[in-house]
Parts: sequence; structure tokens; C-alpha cells
Amino acid sequence: MGVTGDDIAKVCDRIPGGGFMLGRIDDLLNWARESSQWPVTFGLACCAIEMMAAGASHYDLDRFGIIFRGTPRQADIMIVSGTVTRKMAPVLRRLYEQMPEPKYVIAMGNCASGGGPYATGTYSVVRGVDKVVPVDLYIPGCPPRPEQLIDALLELGRSYKGEHALRHERGQIFDGEPVSP
Ligand code: SF4
Repeated sequence: MGVTGDDIAKVCDRIPGGGFMLGRIDDLLNWARESSQWPVTFGLACCAIEMMAAGASHYDLDRFGIIFRGTPRQADIMIVSGTVTRKMAPVLRRLYEQMPEPKYVIAMGNCASGGGPYATGTYSVVRGVDKVVPVDLYIPGCPPRPEQLIDALLELGRSYKGEHALRHERGQIFDGEPVSP
């Protein structure tokens, strides 16, 4: 049997002063963030089909509180799925900059992670989206399955624990223009 509101009220009433509990605001916010991830989708090629499948009824991302957004201004995660071309890189960077902090990036698939089959002998492909924006999580595969994306999103949610809820510490901050491939 689950914990009811009455059970919580009984515990609170025993605390001197009663009716309130002390805790870290970061813990509360991170608990909420873990159950409410809103990714902006950046589908660029075939991997995007698997990303769309993850959001469709069979896999049903909504049950985890993960809801795709159509604007970076309402998103805290960017899923880059597909081949990043040099022409698209500045657009991707601009959308990333429009996302509010704290924000995260998932590179879905071999192309987004490192150029994939276009890593050599192609003039137009960026060898990994981490040349354009900082990446928090890489998913291997050509393409990865929807289960891998779901697992990555849940893992990212778990990683919020212990973080400052309003500031994401990144190992690498990119200030420059997208590099040449
Ligand atoms: S990793 Fe493979 S499936 Fe994904 S975008 Fe590149 S070529 Fe397509």
C-alpha cells in the first residue's frame, strides 16, 4: 500500500513546530526535473525516425513525463538525431543558445556522435555535434533503437541528483563558431 497524504501529515505533525519539513531545495527541484523532461527534437536524418518512434504510442514517452517540445525556449534537453552538416551547424547552435539553463544535449546515433559513415571523405558533414555544442550523452548505433533513447533520457534524469538545480556544470563550454569538418 502506498503512502497517503494522511501518513505524511502524521509525520509532519510530530516535528517540533509541526506542519513543515526541512530539505534542500535542489533535491526538490531535481526530483521534479527528473520526472518532467522536455526535449526539443533536432531530427536531421534517418536516426530521427527512431526518435519519432520513441515518442509514438508504442513506446509512449509521455508515461515518463518526457514530452517533446517544438521550441527550444520550453525545452531543457536537445536531442540531435542524424547527420549534422556544416550548413545546419549554425542553426543548431542558435537553437541551443535559445534554451534556458540548465540544459543538456544528447547526441543520438553515430552521425551525431562523430560523423558516422560520413566521418571520412565528405566535405559537408561535421564530425560530431560536440564540435558545435557541448554534449552530455552519446548514444551509439546506426540507428540506435528507441529503447536506447528512452534509456538515455532516464539515465540523464537520474544524473540530476546532486546537481545544482539551476546550474548545469559542464566540462566543456563552447564559445566559438562551429569548427570545420
Ligand atoms: S547514424 Fe546511421 S541511421 Fe543515424 S543518421 Fe547516420 S546514417 Fe542515418
